[in-house]
Amino acid sequence: MIDAHCHIDLYPDPLAVAMRCEQAGLSTLAMTNLPSHFQQGIRHLHGFKHVRLALGMHPLYADRHEEEYTSFAECFDMTSYIGEIGLDFSREGIQTKDIQLRSFKYILEKVHGKKKLLSIHSRCAEKEVLELLVTYKIKMAIFHWYSGSANVLKLAAAQGYYFSVNPAMIKSNKGAALIAQIPKKLFLTETDGPFVQCGNRVAEPSDVKLVIEYVSRIWKVPINDAKEQIAQNFKDVLKLLR
Ligand code: MN
Repeated sequence: MIDAHCHIDLYPDPLAVAMRCEQAGLSTLAMTNLPSHFQQGIRHLHGFKHVRLALGMHPLYADRHEEEYTSFAECFDMTSYIGEIGLDFSREGIQTKDIQLRSFKYILEKVHGKKKLLSIHSRCAEKEVLELLVTYKIKMAIFHWYSGSANVLKLAAAQGYYFSVNPAMIKSNKGAALIAQIPKKLFLTETDGPFVQCGNRVAEPSDVKLVIEYVSRIWKVPINDAKEQIAQNFKDVLKLLR
């Protein structure tokens, strides 16, 4: 199974979560929200095969971006995974719009022409994010927890960008409607743990199985076929990194 977007470093015991992923052979892209968090986390993950740490600059941490640019540049060659990055023009993020745009463009400029896989936050800024990805000719990007319009989803899919879907999305009507629009070949699973709840507990990477079960019903295929499809999609993405 694949968790293409979670925040292992934000669990109370990150190493225990990472070990469970490793032992289960669960491929996990662990996001960071700032380069200094990446610097702290990376030394704990040496020798891990299934857990990979991504270098991030979360749009909702924009007030701390300025002081983190140097670390971002220093860590850039240490990983093939970049995230969580993007734009957030919701009420929560709109006041730092200019800083976010500057950081996102800075990152895309650095990624341009390099083999990096991006995990993207695009809340209330889906169109702007897509336009920038296309402008900077970004090849490999995953829209994480996409919640924009069906129209922009189609445009992003036409560019070959992927979508990672989490257990919270399958519970909302809007999420379900969007999931139905995602081409099978561009579908990935995530949890966004620990930000997503499963019942009365926090989601863990193994909860991607809820998304797999859900989408197997949408696709009208056996659960194992859905699991295989998603594993193949992830292999296809990783091939592009070579
Ligand atoms: Mn996240």
